[in-house]
Amino acid sequence: MQTQLADFIKDTPEGREAEEILRKCVHCGFCTATCPTYQLLGDELDGPRGRIYLIKQLLEGHDVTEKTRLHLDRCLTCRSCESTCPSGVHYSRLADIGRKLVEERVPRHGMDRVVRWALREFVPRSGLFGAAMKAGRLVRGVLPATLKDKVPALRPAGAWPAPRHARRMFALAGCVQPAMAPSINAAAARVLDALGISLVEAPSAGCCGAVRFHLNDQEGGCDDARRNVDAWWPAIEAGEVEAIVMTASGCATQVKDYGHMLAQDPAYANKAARISELTRDVSEIVAAERDALLAVIAERPARAELGKVAFQAPCTLQHGLRIRGTIEQLLTAAGATVTPVRDAHLCCGSAGTYSILQPELSKTLRANKLAALGEGGAATIASANIGCMTHLEAGTAKPVRHWIELIDQRLNGLPA
Ligand code: SF4
Ligand code: SF4
Repeated sequence: MQTQLADFIKDTPEGREAEEILRKCVHCGFCTATCPTYQLLGDELDGPRGRIYLIKQLLEGHDVTEKTRLHLDRCLTCRSCESTCPSGVHYSRLADIGRKLVEERVPRHGMDRVVRWALREFVPRSGLFGAAMKAGRLVRGVLPATLKDKVPALRPAGAWPAPRHARRMFALAGCVQPAMAPSINAAAARVLDALGISLVEAPSAGCCGAVRFHLNDQEGGCDDARRNVDAWWPAIEAGEVEAIVMTASGCATQVKDYGHMLAQDPAYANKAARISELTRDVSEIVAAERDALLAVIAERPARAELGKVAFQAPCTLQHGLRIRGTIEQLLTAAGATVTPVRDAHLCCGSAGTYSILQPELSKTLRANKLAALGEGGAATIASANIGCMTHLEAGTAKPVRHWIELIDQRLNGLPA
């Protein structure tokens, strides 16, 4: 696509990156067919090709309005369009650049501004979020349905094995997951312990930065990234850990992007690039140890069958990390019957804070996803991302579990 960037952006790193992305787009529209918001709204401007056009206009210096911002706000950043695009257009990077500029040009007002500010300030602070979750659980029975949806019942985490192996990896606790589902990282630690790897958390690491970055506080997201780099770097430099493991595919996608996020920061660029290289979704670690996993499965009798499981592949997993089919194979190896899921490429509507900011679209996408997940008669829904899990859980009576919890269940039984 031919583009004449305006002077304000032309000679900046963002301008050069945007121009390169725009040049790749041949305007074919293949991406439109797999865009969830286009499917629901039927408006070209609520699909990737239309949004690319809006961002191009913005970068060429044309006026932008609240309507431009609305079409960009409705985008889930699910990256389904990137999976479909035959030209390799990195839409999400272009969207980040465009959204930041639109936010500056068309300021928000009223509740929209307040809610976004509250989400940026509250969600990434795990201490604050944990205290609110605790309070929410105490009064869960009397909360209105919309709030009750955001307060899932607490599952026992079980014991975290003491580090005993020469192979060590960091796990990221993250921001909301320790309060919402501490069972996930504990399950990952037990599974990896059985595979000869000790998982440890660096206490001063926190939110991966995705929450603030995707609420257009991109500098705040970069600050979160810097804090995590500082928390991990001494052990990495000393060669004490071999990888950084994420149990939320959303965090894995973000941390794998630290090298890009901090590329212009001379104090952090090299360290961030190294951290990105060492970052793995937990499925990548377990898949690499598949033989060890099969051996442990063979030596430990199953205490309960996993039964039929429908796997919801988070967008960050399938489109962001491009990990497809791996978790389904691991669940099958653990004895689950994994049921097929129609339209598996489509987003469940969670998308970080999207479920709060765009509730109607989000609920429709969730209803569609739950219907698809239910078609194979699965008794359990599995996922790989805490945001998707809590979002889906609020719309179904079926148990929704992280897949690593199911593998842990197969190896060790249910945590007490
Ligand atoms: S599929 Fe790729 S090249 Fe075609 S319109 Fe979409 S982004 Fe552009
Ligand atoms: S990221 Fe998802 S919602 Fe946004 S344009 Fe691409 S396919 Fe559509």
